[in-house]
Amino acid sequence: MLNIILCGAPGSGKGTQSEFIVANYGLEHLSTGDLLRHEIASQSPLGQKVDSIISKGQLVPDDIMMELIGNYIDNLPATAKGVIFDGFPRTVNQAEQLDLLLEHKHQEAHVIDLFVEEDELIERLLNRGKTSGRADDNLETIQKRLEVFHQQTKPVCAYYSEKGKYHAVEGMGTIEDISHRINDIIAAL
Ligand code: AMP
Repeated sequence: MLNIILCGAPGSGKGTQSEFIVANYGLEHLSTGDLLRHEIASQSPLGQKVDSIISKGQLVPDDIMMELIGNYIDNLPATAKGVIFDGFPRTVNQAEQLDLLLEHKHQEAHVIDLFVEEDELIERLLNRGKTSGRADDNLETIQKRLEVFHQQTKPVCAYYSEKGKYHAVEGMGTIEDISHRINDIIAAL
């Protein structure tokens, strides 16, 4: 099994690069943001609970996220070659719990961190906001999401780095160049 965690700030290209990794390696793609937006769109009890949290650019509580992830992992098809985790884990607590879940299945995950400069992130997200229809792609919420990223998600990189499972990738340049850089790392795993 090949489990990859794409860790990078909002707007760093996690979704775009996940699509390439899925195409190249046949992994299952889990975007926790997409999963939560689906819950909101279907107005499920969970969706109603997380709607305002996401609109404010805050993180959904870890216990809710871990229930979602646990269900997802338990229901993976037997033929799954691995998972690309896009937007998860976003806290060290989530990372520790994911590791436990994977250990029980004799698996592990490696982190690929897409590094993009802050000005570029904001520009990309504002551009995306023109068409995405996402409640959180506006300047005020983008700034909040970046603050949350630095405070709560950046420490996840250090956590995996200490375990020797952290790989930084320059996330600036063309989509194809970045995809090649990611492929080089995955090929070496
Ligand atoms: P994304 O599409 O990955 O940018 O996620 C959009 C929003 O969904 C985030 O700003 C959070 O509010 C929420 N979210 C997604 N993944 C997580 C996670 N792993 N932990 C907590 N909140 C999350």
